[in-house]
Amino acid sequence: MSITGGEVVDLGRGLYAWLPPKRGWGLANCGLLVSPRGALWIDTPYDTALAGQFLAESTERLPEGVSIDRVIVTHANGDHFWGAGVLPDAEIIATREAREHIHYEPTPKQQHALVTGGDRESALGAYLARHFGPFDWSSTEPVHPTTYFTGELELTLGEYPVRISALPSAHTTGDLMVHLPAQGAVFSGDVIFSSSSAQPGDHPVHWAGPLDNVIAACERILDTGAGTIVPGHGPVLDRAGVREHVVYLEYVRERAHAFHSAGIPALEAARRVIGEGRYPELGLPERLVVTIGSEYRQLDGSELPGVLQVMTDVAVVAREVEESSDPVGATER
Ligand SMILES: [Zn+2]
Repeated sequence: MSITGGEVVDLGRGLYAWLPPKRGWGLANCGLLVSPRGALWIDTPYDTALAGQFLAESTERLPEGVSIDRVIVTHANGDHFWGAGVLPDAEIIATREAREHIHYEPTPKQQHALVTGGDRESALGAYLARHFGPFDWSSTEPVHPTTYFTGELELTLGEYPVRISALPSAHTTGDLMVHLPAQGAVFSGDVIFSSSSAQPGDHPVHWAGPLDNVIAACERILDTGAGTIVPGHGPVLDRAGVREHVVYLEYVRERAHAFHSAGIPALEAARRVIGEGRYPELGLPERLVVTIGSEYRQLDGSELPGVLQVMTDVAVVAREVEESSDPVGATER
C-alpha cells in the first residue's frame, strides 16, 4: 500500500510548496524553487514512491534545460530527506549538527525491517505498522548530505537569494530554517506543525527541545517579515497562524513546567495534558509523550532514552487514548 496524491501550491516567483495528501506521521511538506538558472528542493518526501511523485510535479514546472541540483534538508528526520535518492547527483545541504544526528537515527532499511517485522500484538509493533507501514524503504540507501554549515549560509538561485539559518536545539539538535526574501516566505521545518479549521493538523512532536528554543525559532521566523510560512507538516500559514502556534507551544511549556515542579513523572504529565483536551481537533495526542519527555530532560539535564523506548510509551498512550474515546472497547477490557 503506498500513499498517492499531494497538492502543489504556487507561492509565486518560482516558489512552490508540495503538501502531502493527508496528515499523520512522516507526511512532510516540501518546497521547490525554480529559476531560469537552476532549481532546488527544500526537504524531500519520506520514501521513493512519494519522492517520485514530488519529482514528477517538480519536473513539470522546470524550464527547458534546468534540473534540480540542490536539496536543503531542514533537519535529520527521515521524513524530510530519505527521498533524496531520486536526485542522485544533487548537492545536499544540512547543518553540521544534523550530520551528527543522522548517526543516531536508524537507516531506512533498518527502519523498514522494524516496521514490517515487529510483533503486531505488541502496542509498539501495532503502532509502527499502522503509522509507518504505508511507507516503503526496503531498497532505500542512506542519504549522505554533501555540504554542511554552521550559523548562516546564503545561496543565490538565479535572481533569488536563499537565506539558510541553523537554529539552536529545538525540534532536533540540527534544525535549520530557509528564508526566501524575494518570495516573502519561510520554510520552517518542524519547529512548526500547523493546523487550520479547514485542515486540522497533528500535535507537534519535539525530540530535543527546549520549548523555549522552539518558541524563539517561531519568533525568528516572524522577525524575517515573511508573510507566508510553510511548516514542516500541516497547512501553509500566515503570520497570525504562527502566533497562534506559539500559544500552543506556550501552553505545553507551562503545563510541562508545572507538572515537573509538582514532581509528576513525564509520562504521567503527558497523560494529564492529553486529558485536559485543550486541542481536541489535533491528531496524534500521544506525541505529547515525546515533547513533554524532551522538556523534562532539558529541565533535568538527562539523556534521551532510546527512541524505541520513547515510541513504546507513545504507542501505549495512543492505545489508552483510543480506548478511552471508544466506550465499546472500554467495556470489553
Ligand atoms: Zn517531520
